[in-house]
Amino acid sequence: MKKEIATGSGVAGIIFLAILGLNVFPFVLFALLIGGFFYFMMNQGKMKLANVGENIKNTNFMKFEDIGGQDSAINELKEALQFLLKPDNTKKMGIRPLKGVLLVGPPGTGKTLLARAAAGYTSSEYIAASGSEFIEMYAGVGAKRIRQLFSDARKKASNSKNKSAIIFIDELEVLGSKRGGNSSHMEYDQTLNQLLVEMDGINPDDETRILLVGATNRADMLDPALIRPGRFDRQVQVTLPDKSGRSKIFSIHTKNKPLAEDIDIDDIARATFGFSGAQLESLSNEAAILALREDAQKIEHRHFIEAIDKVIMGEKLDRRPSQKEVERVSVHESGHALISELVEEGSVSSLTIVPRGKALGFMRKSSQDDQYLYTRSELEKHIMVALAGAIAEDFKYGNRSTGAKNDFNQAWKVSREIVESGLSSLGVVSIEEVPKEKLYNECKEILVNLEKETEQLLKDNINTLYNISEHLLQEESLDRRAFVKLLNSNNKLAV
Ligand code: ATP
Repeated sequence: MKKEIATGSGVAGIIFLAILGLNVFPFVLFALLIGGFFYFMMNQGKMKLANVGENIKNTNFMKFEDIGGQDSAINELKEALQFLLKPDNTKKMGIRPLKGVLLVGPPGTGKTLLARAAAGYTSSEYIAASGSEFIEMYAGVGAKRIRQLFSDARKKASNSKNKSAIIFIDELEVLGSKRGGNSSHMEYDQTLNQLLVEMDGINPDDETRILLVGATNRADMLDPALIRPGRFDRQVQVTLPDKSGRSKIFSIHTKNKPLAEDIDIDDIARATFGFSGAQLESLSNEAAILALREDAQKIEHRHFIEAIDKVIMGEKLDRRPSQKEVERVSVHESGHALISELVEEGSVSSLTIVPRGKALGFMRKSSQDDQYLYTRSELEKHIMVALAGAIAEDFKYGNRSTGAKNDFNQAWKVSREIVESGLSSLGVVSIEEVPKEKLYNECKEILVNLEKETEQLLKDNINTLYNISEHLLQEESLDRRAFVKLLNSNNKLAV
């Protein structure tokens, strides 16, 4: 109503000025600009939220059984969902219903899937938004969107059979990071304040039941007010899947694909340590694409193995480095592979000088069981393998190249890990208390000693090194069988 009165008076005023014979053009222009600005501001929230929830038509088809490797997260989440499923039971026990559940974990581990499955499991309406959708340059827009999100959820819930709705906010850290941190404008703080107000407004006695599910991979950035009891008072850790979890996810994503008989799921699961669910999904897809490229009827084990390289390193590149560079890469990779095999027999799966992603060549380690703890001697072996590429170049050319930069970073990190874990000559340390110079010297000493050891080992097996690199140069790739044959064709290895 107020809007209509203001518009009417404005128009009347301009007509009056025109009758008086004044030039009204600047007034009209000014009115149009102001009107346009307000129209834009008012519709911003509506436009974005109109899209929210579009991806949920198939919510009913998403089930917890379709999510692999997250059994404990699923159990914790199911427990939290009891108040949506059996509100009377929780009330009888005097349990304060949860208002928010926070899913915390690395990207691509299935947080969105869990939220959607939660909606399916409780037959609730599902409304999804991302933290970044609430942050605009204009003050107040985010807060308005939050209000609208909750009011939409209430409306949807009251029209639904189960009278409940789940609001899912992905990237919660974008709108929920610590207040005062974004000094450039107050929009962030206003939006977060509004979210807190809406969460406090969720009343267990309401006719409709609302549960907020947030997802983040930076729980440390969240404002303490958001994660205090009574708001997001349950945090569910969504971790990278372990080996059996990876097998399950692999089976889920290959259900609709024609697999050859030679597929060894256990081997693939072992070779994909550290992969997220999203990476495993991508792996299955890439393997199918590789099989299709070859016109194969079924996807074979080797397609999956090549797809692993592709997911980790990127697509094979057509660009060829110069012949001189290729020769150097073959020596470098042969150095890695030889030392790897010498310090840990059976550890080399393949090596190649076909560029992929940013790498001009690489050695692939054999599949291993998941490992979370390392001894000093195991960490030292990692360092030796990392240093071996540059040292092999040194033997062949009398100098090193920039190709070893990442290897050195890796070696330095591992040496730091040795110190931090109390495995160095410094003994038990609190890393913050160790003076920078002391830390540097200790890491340096570890590296220098291992560099000498690696040098000696390569020197003792120099003919084998050159033999492998020559064959690698000719063949471009060597699988384990060819690699072992080359090792055995030389005189006895010196270890
Ligand atoms: P982000 O933090 O980047 O938003 P997320 O944890 O929400 O990621 P999802 O969006 O749930 O990850 O997962 C992306 C895709 O990866 C899914 O559509 C699915 O194909 C696959 N995926 C991820 N985790 C799993 C899992 N645990 N089981 C089966 N598939 C999974």
